[in-house]
Amino acid sequence: ASETEEKDLVIIGGGVAGYVAAIKAGQSGLKVACIEKRGALGGTCLNVGCIPSKSLLNNSHLYHQILHDTKNRGIEVGEVKLNLAAMMKAKETSVSGLTKGIEFLFKKNNVEYIKGAGAFKDEHTVAVNLAEGGGETTVRGKNILIATGSEATPFPGLTIDEKKVITSTGAIALQEVPKKMTVIGGGIIGLEMASVWSRLGSEVTVVEYLGQIGGPGMDKDVAKQAQKLLQKQGLKFKLNTKVVSGDADGEGVKVTVEAAKGGKEETLDADVCLVAIGRRPYTNGLGLENIGLEVDERGRLIIDQEYRTKIPHIRAIGDVTFGPMLAHKAEEESVAVVEYITKGYGHVNYGAIPSVMYTHPEVAWVGQNEQELTAANVKYNVGQFPFSANSRAKTNLDTEGFVKMISDVETDRILGIHIIGPNAGEMIAEGVLALEYGASSEDVARTSHAHPTLSEAFKEAAMATSSSQVFEF
Ligand code: FAD
Ligand code: NAD
Repeated sequence: ASETEEKDLVIIGGGVAGYVAAIKAGQSGLKVACIEKRGALGGTCLNVGCIPSKSLLNNSHLYHQILHDTKNRGIEVGEVKLNLAAMMKAKETSVSGLTKGIEFLFKKNNVEYIKGAGAFKDEHTVAVNLAEGGGETTVRGKNILIATGSEATPFPGLTIDEKKVITSTGAIALQEVPKKMTVIGGGIIGLEMASVWSRLGSEVTVVEYLGQIGGPGMDKDVAKQAQKLLQKQGLKFKLNTKVVSGDADGEGVKVTVEAAKGGKEETLDADVCLVAIGRRPYTNGLGLENIGLEVDERGRLIIDQEYRTKIPHIRAIGDVTFGPMLAHKAEEESVAVVEYITKGYGHVNYGAIPSVMYTHPEVAWVGQNEQELTAANVKYNVGQFPFSANSRAKTNLDTEGFVKMISDVETDRILGIHIIGPNAGEMIAEGVLALEYGASSEDVARTSHAHPTLSEAFKEAAMATSSSQVFEF
């Protein structure tokens, strides 16, 4: 086995957490290597997550819109046909362009890219089983960063084959539109993928254990509205429902469900079943046992505020440890962890990490929701403004949804912003900035917003929230 020179930083995993840290470390003058076993950089997000799913969401939305929403706009189209293979090709083009871009940035910033699977040999040495039968090499690091990400949580009794019983990875690569699809889990993955395939013609039923869709974090009013609008688009929901068993042996997939509290069983037949009940940290084959590192009951690597494991020069960030499993959260941590290594301090504001669901309309939020504030006994004001009263939404004939702002009843400081509506995912950036700067709703209400834009709904919601009656001149 060969050995590479000792590095200042060795990173295991080339996903968002790993590759951003690698580039930042290279720019900071560290000698850095990044080990990735997938054969491409970018991790889950670029290869099988954020990017391919958004390509399909965008193009399936266009297809659906051309089919159902052109006449009233004065556009008459002829026969509209789906070419799924070409839609998948467009997705692949977006993905490959971006992953190659990271390789370029690695070269530019002197990051050594080691293609293979890394495993701890000892506290400073990682053995790499090189890709494509390249044998083994070892790499030593003064610092080591674990950024090995996450994987889909399987559903007991249903074996994933990525054809009939699929995770999101299979759901972004189906070769034909299933006639019927059952989705287990009405969280973000479930709803984004259900939207894609329903728009392309599939009959989709989403089974959710809880009484609301959207997964943890979504405000209850927003979740209710999202469900209503998705139902209008054709999605079927079974809430407060648990999956009892699944059977994929025969033709298609049978999923037996019953009310969460117990009750009569019902069997759902489908061609394809998507399992989307959450993701879990991934540390398989990493050799944690060789260095005595342990994970918590949910598989997360235990770290302190400086991202250190109990072995101080070994740190962990991204999906493999605590916090929301989001690419931009991983990205913030990458910058902070390199700053800790090079300067001794770093910073991530976990109270201002936005969440976006890229359905149509989009759902986006930042900060706390009403359920959380009520549970914490916080007194708050709520202001809401509907897109049906926003001039730009009206001109776009895209008026569903609202902006909801929550602020502290005493200080008016913004505590949470929850949007369902067109371009919510872009608009939330303003909310994140407001939260980051500790803005009050009055601050936003007194800020000029261009007319006619969707963002005026944001200002209007702030005006409704603000206790200061700014417009009584
Ligand atoms: P990962 O991206 O999982 O990267 C870890 C990498 O480490 C992998 O490439 C893996 O091959 C590699 N690895 C693991 N073990 C080893 C080893 N021993 N040796 C070498 N390499 C190893 N987030 C958003 O913010 N916005 C979205 O729109 C969004 N959409 C998503 C859609 C889907 C379908 C999915 C599944 C996820 C989505 N996410 C989204 C979540 C996002 O993908 C993750 O939060 C993000 O990828 C986490 O980055 P990471 O670097 O921690 O882990
Ligand atoms: P999730 O935690 O968002 O949702 C899982 C849902 O499944 C929950 O609503 C849960 O109540 C339900 N559930 C769990 N077990 C169940 C069961 N046995 N039967 C029925 N329902 C059950 O997880 P996800 O949707 O799988 O997504 C995983 C991660 O990926 C999330 O952290 C998410 O943030 C991230 N992601 C983000 C985006 C985005 O930012 N747009 C897109 C995709 C994925």
